[in-house]
Amino acid sequence: MHNHLETLAGILRHALITDQELALKPQGLYHTGICPSCHKNELFVKVEKPFQIKCNRRNKCGFTQKTRERYAHLIQDVRKNYPATKTNPYATAEAYLTITRGFPAKRMQGWFEQANFRNEEGEWIPTVRFWLDAEKKKFWGGKEMTMEP
Ligand SMILES: [Zn+2]
Repeated sequence: MHNHLETLAGILRHALITDQELALKPQGLYHTGICPSCHKNELFVKVEKPFQIKCNRRNKCGFTQKTRERYAHLIQDVRKNYPATKTNPYATAEAYLTITRGFPAKRMQGWFEQANFRNEEGEWIPTVRFWLDAEKKKFWGGKEMTMEP
């Protein structure tokens, strides 16, 4: 059982700084390193939001990559790893908000519930719904918050 929830940004930041191909070094608000496409020392990624690596040679190279795609093997499918249980029917929603979205879900109890959304293919997909009123009649989310990795 997992009891420590690591955020997606933390996982990606760790993957980036240990990625030998990129040889990233800290430089203020960014990490800079070697572009995997043109091999120049022009790659950069934000430290706080490590979701995309970009080559600074926009016209001559133009390389960009989403880090969640580069490190897809490290990113959890919370639907598999944190299934809802009898004792915690919102386990998947808590893990999704914490790991994938970086929210303090443990401190947000009562703000959301785990629900299911039926997509166009007719599959039921677990989602998060945030309550907008005290009576819990209005919500935001559902199809906007499907819990995909
Ligand atoms: Zn480049």
